[in-house]
Amino acid sequence: MKKTLLISLVLPIMLNSCSKDSLKEYKTENVIIMVVDGQRYSESWGDSTHQYIPHFSTEIADFGIVNTAFYNNGLTSTVPGFTAITTGVYQEINNSGQESPIYPSIFQYLIEKDSTAPAWIINSKDKLAVLGNCQQTNWSNKYMPLLDCGIDGLGSGYRHDTLTLARFFNVMSEYHPKLTLLGFREPDFSAHTNSWDDYIEGIINTDEYIYRVWNYIQNDPHYSGRTTLFITNDHGRHLDNIGDGFKSHGDGCDGCRHINFFAYGPDFKKGVINHSRELIDIPATITEILQLNAEYVEGKIMYELFE
Ligand SMILES: [Zn+2]
Ligand SMILES: [Zn+2]
Repeated sequence: MKKTLLISLVLPIMLNSCSKDSLKEYKTENVIIMVVDGQRYSESWGDSTHQYIPHFSTEIADFGIVNTAFYNNGLTSTVPGFTAITTGVYQEINNSGQESPIYPSIFQYLIEKDSTAPAWIINSKDKLAVLGNCQQTNWSNKYMPLLDCGIDGLGSGYRHDTLTLARFFNVMSEYHPKLTLLGFREPDFSAHTNSWDDYIEGIINTDEYIYRVWNYIQNDPHYSGRTTLFITNDHGRHLDNIGDGFKSHGDGCDGCRHINFFAYGPDFKKGVINHSRELIDIPATITEILQLNAEYVEGKIMYELFE
């Protein structure tokens, strides 16, 4: 009886260490991706005064890596942008929550590897619940993350970002997710109303939410020192001389494509770089950090981030 118990305790540890010998070891145990929806680079890091992102620019940026040459090279709308972030593939996916991505997500790769790993998608926009599943044979309806999107899931409508932030803190303390995607509806939501003031307020507010998440990661015993954070946008917005300017987005102009990128974690360097990268490289890098099967991921690992 005792001998069996000993073997059952020791064997998984041995197997684990054997299988890890051939792989690189990282300090990161958890990954959080934070997405600010439809923020234009020229009102965030691209504005040298950083006037609308005071928390990020003065209290966070120095601790990680900012890449000033980061792009969405696929469709510059919300669901396609998020699909690139979660699957590592650019897909011309419907933008109103009517179809799931074709390819599996990093959440599914994680849960396929470890069925007990908690993984969450938390977003103010209900339509992003489609990111929880995919269409690929052998992956559809399997290894799905937990979802907390919109007022009450797909078709329920958008909720305020303060509610999303509150849900995020509840989920983090209750479930300790290993992989989390947190997305806000601002400043995209206000920009579409064509109010410049509300658009700017959306940027200032999301800067505050980022700061609160940042402080949580620094102070929580489960996450502190072993969590990698990515902050980016799903897409930008038109340049002032394109279409209706900041109000809209969706084409290939530099305003829509050029977005923010920040990475922070125990395995990463610090500094500001200008290294041409794109949205699909985020999931590729996460499959490296968490040592996941990246079967369909087309992005490239951002080795320049690592120590
Ligand atoms: Zn939009
Ligand atoms: Zn544009």
